[in-house]
Amino acid sequence: MAHNDQGDFAVTTAYITHPACALHDMGDFHPECPERLSHIEDRLMAAGLLDFLQYHEAPRAKRTQLGRVHDGNYIKTVMNFKPKDGEEHRYLDPDTLMMEHTPEAALRAAGAVVLATELVADKKVNNAFCNVRPPGHHALKEQAMGFCFFNNVAVGAAHALGEFGLNRVAVCDFDVHHGNGTEDIFTQDYRVMLCSSFQHPFYPHTPLESDNPHIINAPLDAGADGAAFRQAITDIWLPALRRFAPQMIFISAGFDAHIEDDMGHVQLREADYVWVTEQLLKVADEFSQGRVVSVLEGGYALSALGRSATEHVRTLMGIH
Ligand SMILES: [Zn+2]
Repeated sequence: MAHNDQGDFAVTTAYITHPACALHDMGDFHPECPERLSHIEDRLMAAGLLDFLQYHEAPRAKRTQLGRVHDGNYIKTVMNFKPKDGEEHRYLDPDTLMMEHTPEAALRAAGAVVLATELVADKKVNNAFCNVRPPGHHALKEQAMGFCFFNNVAVGAAHALGEFGLNRVAVCDFDVHHGNGTEDIFTQDYRVMLCSSFQHPFYPHTPLESDNPHIINAPLDAGADGAAFRQAITDIWLPALRRFAPQMIFISAGFDAHIEDDMGHVQLREADYVWVTEQLLKVADEFSQGRVVSVLEGGYALSALGRSATEHVRTLMGIH
């Protein structure tokens, strides 16, 4: 299939994924399942969008790139994992399991965001979407957590700072769960503004209060609908982002705040994901030369995930 015919679109959006990301498998009943990726790609294809995205296969993240945000010994634990005889899975936390394909999937997921960062920072494309798993935003500096091994979005943000000399990047996280891993990694790094919207109180039970003015929390009550979400983004995220004037924007794009997703109790719909994407693109146009890198996080109701991610990507592509 010709993925690289970008036709007449004014905006070029990169689409980065890797087959290895579908090989990581935590068991038949685990919601963070390989089919999440194919549901998104199938929907993009059915919508006629896939041919107009610039397709890239994700490289492996390098150890030095991971090392900007993770402890060296922890990186070794993930990269050197080999199942012992008779061992199918090894638990790193109660719902985060490693198996033989996990290291490769995790390296490709983080590598996708590194490549996205390079393509967008170098202006080879306007923006990028990484259709990858395992997700990343709960992964702490030294520890796997909540289905996450390497903090993909953090690896990308640190690459933008370390490799491209940027000194203000924003990470905007609309997953229904707080991006506690990303906060853990950047809590003392004022070059990164972390805007998070999330159901509260809820997993991972991060304290709301932060002394750091670059940690921007927009908590949502259980049952919050699209109007409440949009109000929180308008009141809390957008003024903070405009004060900060990010040179590049990363999106932790989790779709588990969708009304059909029973992983959380927030009631967003596809139109809300379009809206928030438009708001972030506007900020990016004002301050960041349009530079946006979006990375898949959660989203477990497969049909809603496919539809929501497709509308998000359509918006990134500038198609209304
Ligand atoms: Zn989530």
